[in-house]
Amino acid sequence: MKINLFCYECGEFEYEKNLDGFSTNGIDCNFCGTKNRFKDSYYPHFSVNEFIQTINEMDEQNKNNISQTIKTSYETFNTFNSSEINVTLQKYEEIYYLMDKLLENEKIYSIDAKSKVIDDLEEKLIKLYPTDTAIGIVSSLPFVKTHYRKPILILIASTIELLFNTYFEEVCKIEELPKKLTTSIPKKIEYLDSNRAKSLQNHMNNYDENFYFLWEQLRSKRNKIIHKNSLYISNKMIEDNMQLLKSSVFVFINLTSELYREIYIKPTK
Ligand SMILES: [Zn+2]
Repeated sequence: MKINLFCYECGEFEYEKNLDGFSTNGIDCNFCGTKNRFKDSYYPHFSVNEFIQTINEMDEQNKNNISQTIKTSYETFNTFNSSEINVTLQKYEEIYYLMDKLLENEKIYSIDAKSKVIDDLEEKLIKLYPTDTAIGIVSSLPFVKTHYRKPILILIASTIELLFNTYFEEVCKIEELPKKLTTSIPKKIEYLDSNRAKSLQNHMNNYDENFYFLWEQLRSKRNKIIHKNSLYISNKMIEDNMQLLKSSVFVFINLTSELYREIYIKPTK
């Protein structure tokens, strides 16, 4: 098991440290020498880690579900496929993901567009397979139950929000900014930017140049899901945002470290 250790005394941290062989009594900081209690040395906090663990489990379950449903639907297709042409499971899977990717196009996506996607896909497949095979593939393509996707996305957005809120509070405390009473992320970012020399985006860019923009995109998707629920979430979006979740811990542990390093004063001997 890999964990991130953080010293709240000086800001020193160890990212994805292997847990094996650790004493749970305490950890000596490599930089300032402070002996920290194990439970005080985690980054992020337990409650955030619980979210991350749940998301990972849901992601696993989601992957298993999809491959299982595709397989079942492939078997159905083969039962009815009377042509000589053999479509491999791998090919069939590729076609599913092609459809999944086409449905991602938010601008054209609506109930009508959904049937347009199916038509477009059929047209493409007709060039590759005999007509009845192509139609067979399209009509058997599962509307794979993807009920994990939206909750996963919402949970990822919430987890990053938790990381950000913790960071926000620490900045306000350490840099002695007056308390700002708002729950809105954009307003909090605006507040930080107007009170600090460097914008949050600039701070983040040091560790991941795409993070700020991708996080913004995720928040917009999350809001759409919550308010309208008409957004199609593709497998690719889940993969990308699982990656974003991983980056978020890396970005925020670094930002938090910067904060603590700033105020750390090396004791004089
Ligand atoms: Zn330390």
